[in-house]
Amino acid sequence: NWDARLQIGSRDEIGLLGHSINDLATSLQRYRDTRRAFFSNISHELRTPVTYLQGYSKVLDEGMIQSEKEKEQYLSIIYEESVRLEHLINDLFDLSKMEEGQLKLSMEWLDLKQVVTTAVQKVKLKAENKRLSLQMELYDRIPFIRGDRKRMEQVLLNLLENAIRYTESGGVHVRLTRQKESTILSISDTGVGIEKNELPYIFERFYRVEKSRAREFGGTGLGLSIVKKYVEMQGGTVRVDSQIGVGTTFILTFSQKKQRREGMSHEKN
Ligand code: ADP
Repeated sequence: NWDARLQIGSRDEIGLLGHSINDLATSLQRYRDTRRAFFSNISHELRTPVTYLQGYSKVLDEGMIQSEKEKEQYLSIIYEESVRLEHLINDLFDLSKMEEGQLKLSMEWLDLKQVVTTAVQKVKLKAENKRLSLQMELYDRIPFIRGDRKRMEQVLLNLLENAIRYTESGGVHVRLTRQKESTILSISDTGVGIEKNELPYIFERFYRVEKSRAREFGGTGLGLSIVKKYVEMQGGTVRVDSQIGVGTTFILTFSQKKQRREGMSHEKN
């Protein structure tokens, strides 16, 4: 183990400098810890779908399954696991682009209603499998915004998948509304919630709440850092409200004014 913290004996500038160095050392240590946990999680996350893919395709290949229904089930697991793997690879790819400052969005006029509907459709089965409700409330007259369709969908998928993953009963509610000059998209769940003292960190790369607990749910700690980055690159903001045992709401706000100012928007609809 490595510790760069200094013993500080004076209260002058040198002492102050010492404190700054110690703060840096503490952050660096935290970064190393989360990084180490990340690599262990990511290996686990990559291995799991691959194990399923190999196992189920082998069984199918050996022709041991008679019933058509069972065959279909196995095929649908194979499909879902390959989708999961694809998401993970996309996340990793985007993360490395972000680190190099090379991430470029491809902006177009987006009908958020349509993006939300597509994303909700994609996670419907996941919610049904856990017997969770999945509701959508889309207001009329939502203006088009400038955004990257794929990335916006990924933002929604990350948030929806989290909401489903961290909820055991009740369900998920997606709401798209307009407030004055802003379009507001909220994703609420009735899940486990997030401790107040952890809230400031959940958007950090690799950060996972209470590792042991989060581990049983699966995940990499990448999802929310990507959400935040994408939303901000599209001129929006993201914030979170949560209460332990009650649920969590993520709120995305896209301000028309801001989009206009940054040459991203005009009214359509
Ligand atoms: P992970 O891959 O671990 O889900 P994320 O970056 O998506 O990584 O989320 C970071 C952490 O925030 C998660 O480990 C989880 O503990 C917490 N979290 C995210 N979304 C929710 C939610 N809807 N309900 C409860 N906890 C959540």
